[in-house]
Amino acid sequence: MDIHEQLIRPTIEKFNAEFKAEPEHLFLSPGRINIIGEHVDYSDGFVLPAAIDKYICFAVRKLPRTNFCTIIAKDLGEEYTFDVTVEIKPVQQMWMNYILGVFSQLQKPGNKFCGMEIVFSSTIPMGSGLSSSAALECGFAYILNNLFDLQLTKKEIAVIGQKSEHTFAGVQCGIMDQFASVFGKEDKVIMLDCNSLEHQYFDADLKGYSLLLFDSCVKHSHLTSGYNERRKDVEHGKKVLWKNFPETQKFRDFTLPMLDRVKDEMGDISYKRCLYLLKEIQRVEMAAKAISAGDIEYLGTLLTETHAGLSTEFEVSCNELDFLVENTLQQEGVLGARIMGGGFGGCSINLIQEDKAEEVIKAISEKYLEHFNIRMKIYQVKISDGIKEYTNEYII
Ligand code: ADP
Ligand code: MG
Repeated sequence: MDIHEQLIRPTIEKFNAEFKAEPEHLFLSPGRINIIGEHVDYSDGFVLPAAIDKYICFAVRKLPRTNFCTIIAKDLGEEYTFDVTVEIKPVQQMWMNYILGVFSQLQKPGNKFCGMEIVFSSTIPMGSGLSSSAALECGFAYILNNLFDLQLTKKEIAVIGQKSEHTFAGVQCGIMDQFASVFGKEDKVIMLDCNSLEHQYFDADLKGYSLLLFDSCVKHSHLTSGYNERRKDVEHGKKVLWKNFPETQKFRDFTLPMLDRVKDEMGDISYKRCLYLLKEIQRVEMAAKAISAGDIEYLGTLLTETHAGLSTEFEVSCNELDFLVENTLQQEGVLGARIMGGGFGGCSINLIQEDKAEEVIKAISEKYLEHFNIRMKIYQVKISDGIKEYTNEYII
């Protein structure tokens, strides 16, 4: 089904039904994949994400004569209204916190807001590691920037999205998800330096291979999973490294022999976490080179190495994802597979020969169902543009 039938039309219809009016604007805010570079976005690393053709669609109308903003989350069947002139605090409805966290940062002298009516709905599965949360917060920041002429740069929009997640949603995420959602480009992967936010685009020519996502349907919430705990383990490791090697500029400048020298002081857990991170940072650089050189086979090897690291060193996999990856790798035509996203569930990302994809999907779906009694979902994604206003005719 195309995006119009599946997402845009139902969002407009909901807007019509709830607000008895037509939306004035439509925005599409994409989810993202990350080809490689997991958990390094808060550790001075490089990542290799891309926006995908799964979106949150926002239908929006300005209400110049009121101060009330009503937002309907169509997929959850919930709505929330707030006064744009009153100081914003976090609320019980988690989904709304991603939005309010954005608004609270922009509520400052010089920025004038009025009421709004918004309906949003999504084809990005929630909590599957495709970053629906970044699409939500950055989408809302983009809307405010566009409707109220706030003169925010794209970088500022990404950073506002990240801060909203830190402060209002309580997840200490890195910048990658937001950056990919805002800066995505069709058929390009982004190599992002999470430290400086410098980035470059690479052609995503996979030479007859495609990236397929297998959703384990194991849901995670970064709030209750070990995500924040991992961040604490890493922070401890970094503290020990810098205490011993104070002249080192960036985390990625530490070498594996340096890490080994402080292993006892750091303790086993932080050692394993840092070991994974330093190796992963190297893998991303090698992966970018492999993509540029058209060496897709080596890219696959790197993906699989990342999975092993995430599973045994960073310990953010789970039985379901380990099973999916292990079994996928045994199939013909598969170059690499790994868990994608923060971990503890969600999707695997798989590099599979295009003309073998159907067979692999069939085999793995059957095995997964038999073993866990769960029907996995499959997302075939296309690398797409970042957030934008959707300006085609609204055909109802
Ligand atoms: P991910 O970003 O990997 O999808 P997160 O746990 O970070 O997972 O974010 C998911 C949360 O984002 C949801 O629990 C919900 O609060 C919010 N969210 C995302 N998409 C929607 C949506 N379509 N409607 C309402 N809330 C959403
Ligand atoms: Mg998220």
